[in-house]
Amino acid sequence: MTGKIPFSEIPEHGVQFEITEPSWFPEHLRDAADPVTAQILLVKRSENKIELRGSIKAGIRLECDRCLTEYRYDFDSDLQLIVELADHDRHWRMQDLEVGKGELDTIQVAEPVVDLGEILRQQVLLNMPAKQLCSENCLGLCKYCGANLNERRCGCAEKEVDSPFAVLARLAGKRRN
Ligand SMILES: [Zn+2]
Ligand SMILES: [Zn+2]
Repeated sequence: MTGKIPFSEIPEHGVQFEITEPSWFPEHLRDAADPVTAQILLVKRSENKIELRGSIKAGIRLECDRCLTEYRYDFDSDLQLIVELADHDRHWRMQDLEVGKGELDTIQVAEPVVDLGEILRQQVLLNMPAKQLCSENCLGLCKYCGANLNERRCGCAEKEVDSPFAVLARLAGKRRN
């Protein structure tokens, strides 16, 4: 259930959702995400304010930015935020923002509806790592021959003529002659 939930249908004691289908997942990651689970609790704070708490977990197949190998990334993010009906009385809203400072992240909506799929989708995008790496120490691909340096040492870097090591090696060689 990832539809739009009207504020009026959310009780003060809360309503729980468990989402196990990935239709709401960001489109470019959807086919790579399996399994996907989101546990969400919606609680009415007031007529115009809903608190959303929960977690999103997903196993996602990603391609490493450095070595281009596919690896599994375990996405795991807790969320806690307020969905609030935007008020058109500006003065009131400013006050409310001050009171709310340091509180939970607030999403302002134009209609009293929680668009659960959209909120979850944004949370995934916000919490994806900026760099996709199969491991922090990934050595990447050799820029000369394209070998995956995590799997084997091709030796190209040592052979490179312009490297300081190559120059030193040549000097050493000359001296020996
Ligand atoms: Zn890698
Ligand atoms: Zn190489």
